[in-house]
Amino acid sequence: MSLGVPSLAAERNQSIVVEVIEFKDEKIPIGTPNILKRSYESLDYDECENDLLVNEAQRKGYPWEIRKKISRWFICLIVGLLTALIGVGIDISIQYLAKIKYTKLKEYLDACSDVDCMYTPYLFWLASNLVAVLPGAVLVAYVEPIAMGSGIPHVKCYLNGIKMPHIVRLRTLVVKVVGVVSAVVGGLACGKEGPMIHSGAVVAAGISQGKSYFLKFLNMHSFAKFRDDREKRDFVSGGAAAGVAAAFGAPVGGVLFALEEGASFWNQGLTWRIFFASSVSAFTLNACMSWYEDHPGNMSYDGLLNFGSFDDLNYHMPELIIFVVMGAIGGLLGAFYNFANHKLTVFRMRYIRSRWLKVLEVLLVSGVSCTLAIFMVYGMEQCVDIGDNPTPYPIQMHCDDGEYNSLASLWIQLPETTVRSFFHDSSGTHAIGTLLPFVIVYYFVSIWTYGISVSAGLFIPCLLVGGAWGRMIGIGLQANFPYAPILANPGKYALIGAAAQLGGVVRMTISLTVILIEATGSIIFGLPLMITLLTAKWVGDFFNEGLYDLHIQLSGVPLLAWDPPPLSFILNAREFMSSPVTTLQPVESVRRIVHILRTKTYNGFPVVDPCVSSADSVRSFGRLKGLILRSQLIVMLQNKIFNVNTDGWDNSRINMSMFRKLYPRFPTIEDIALTDEEMNRSLDLRPFMNPSPYCVQMISSMQRVFRLFRALGLRHVVVTNETNEVVGIVTRKDLTKYRVWKHFGQCGVKELKIV
Ligand code: ATP
Repeated sequence: MSLGVPSLAAERNQSIVVEVIEFKDEKIPIGTPNILKRSYESLDYDECENDLLVNEAQRKGYPWEIRKKISRWFICLIVGLLTALIGVGIDISIQYLAKIKYTKLKEYLDACSDVDCMYTPYLFWLASNLVAVLPGAVLVAYVEPIAMGSGIPHVKCYLNGIKMPHIVRLRTLVVKVVGVVSAVVGGLACGKEGPMIHSGAVVAAGISQGKSYFLKFLNMHSFAKFRDDREKRDFVSGGAAAGVAAAFGAPVGGVLFALEEGASFWNQGLTWRIFFASSVSAFTLNACMSWYEDHPGNMSYDGLLNFGSFDDLNYHMPELIIFVVMGAIGGLLGAFYNFANHKLTVFRMRYIRSRWLKVLEVLLVSGVSCTLAIFMVYGMEQCVDIGDNPTPYPIQMHCDDGEYNSLASLWIQLPETTVRSFFHDSSGTHAIGTLLPFVIVYYFVSIWTYGISVSAGLFIPCLLVGGAWGRMIGIGLQANFPYAPILANPGKYALIGAAAQLGGVVRMTISLTVILIEATGSIIFGLPLMITLLTAKWVGDFFNEGLYDLHIQLSGVPLLAWDPPPLSFILNAREFMSSPVTTLQPVESVRRIVHILRTKTYNGFPVVDPCVSSADSVRSFGRLKGLILRSQLIVMLQNKIFNVNTDGWDNSRINMSMFRKLYPRFPTIEDIALTDEEMNRSLDLRPFMNPSPYCVQMISSMQRVFRLFRALGLRHVVVTNETNEVVGIVTRKDLTKYRVWKHFGQCGVKELKIV
């Protein structure tokens, strides 16, 4: 079927084919990716240059602008510092609690190598896992469900320009921090790195606004000037970057993450500020953790996920083929990971809906994980000399004195230590026979774990699984080519496997390459990492989308893609705009405004001069004068600014702070009480409206409109005819509802339902 209303393109027989999604009996199945939820609203990156803003700028002049600039840098400094301190707090808590747990567990295991006494360590392990995961699961399920998972998909949506309820609240941060400590100590197949990105975003949003809904007494007026979507979103980019920097010790990777994952509007000043925030974060974390590890000033602790130092990361040209093959394996395993997790998520949406069931599932995953682990610890062995590797909890289990069971140690330590083991353990520490069952078990357990009701990241399980199969490939190469010294480095292949697996699941390439270069400290190995990640992405993309995108689709979020749909330049605005348009007049009656706000859900209304002169076949709604937002109308009504003109206004009462005070939680129209007399008055919208909103001609192509939205972070675009009369309106949902699908090398466009 062709897109939109009968159109010029259709007349020219040029419309593109779009598959329209219909649901049987209009019943929307739970867990369908083919809907967009109307309730998700957009952020507005476009600054409303109304009279109030212009007056304020004129009154305060250049010094105010300079103070604003300095404040932005100061906020970035604080954001970097606080994000790192949160990372330090998480890391130290995890280390401390894990030490208690694993030391005791090692004691029990060392005291027993017989199946008859295995129940003691098993029960201890099980109980400690369940006790640890319970508080995190309860907090996420009952207090703040948005704190679930890594938070990266949510941050991605926010940076893309969508208001995600509760995502940058302080309460979310508290639940996230407690939740991630609880999940990692509870032995789940997860990491703390993804949640750091979300934590940084919350810190940035909170600090930059100088107020908190959670801590109502906190209200810093000097930061009130940053209370708008545009400023807030810029700071959130910086916070997310600071989170990446703290997690991986990768300040440049942080900047690229913010770029790759969202911030559509990019300028030099913003790049420098984001880089500053992430550098401060990486430095602070390094300084604090080096001090905690008893070598203050040494600066040897690069990030929460420390890859350890690789001395001999080099490669020969022919090895690039091996890296491409490993990238392809990562892509395949990643695609299956995403497929299985997607199915599981749909199952959860349908059947695991009540909160207690969610908590129960977390307990089940935690219990099953340690049950499988104890079977492997007891049932398999790989004995290695104890002096060979720095292992925090060497378990003797079936091995001779002076040896430890390297397979048991993989389970009985924090997962990031296991990742490091794969990268740095000496040759012969691990064998294919023991790694294979480990990979299989951990792969499936981590598929099951992502999406349960805990705050937990995906990076570590992917690096761990990839590190393990990468090491297996390294061991195989070493055994088959004993006379090729360059191949005798299983740690190098573990690193490539880790990158391939992670790339195959999340499909981020630019930022991930740089993050891994910074985390390994090896520039020379950048090319192999990039080749591996790109191959993994291409192979994975052949089958399905990245895991974050799949989860975003299941949530019905109108995420604007990087590029417009293919062939969209054939379509013009007339074919996908909304018409008729609900408009307002420059001086409008309160009664009509209230009626519109009560009966329509729209957030933007073109302000028009009603004289219609067009003789065009397309209906027009008046000459465009500006655009006003629902939130602005609400603030005007609440402050009862019932004037027909601006004469005699009290500038100290009617100014920008009226709007900033209520940002971002504006009241609804139902909250506004108006008397009958007030309903008969009128509002002059002119000083408040945006007098020069972005608009396009109705013959503009979809591609052009899409790029305008994407590059400028817009919320509404008004469609006009040749004489500047409003003929339609376009919002982000009008564009995002045309989703491009790619599957097994095929591609098409489908039209989603907005519900
Ligand atoms: P957002 O939710 O992104 O903040 P919004 O609430 O103004 O923006 P949407 O929810 O995206 O608008 O709008 C849903 C549909 O309503 C879209 O098809 C859009 O074109 C249409 N629409 C939006 N504003 C108007 C309006 N003033 N008059 C008529 N249709 C409109």
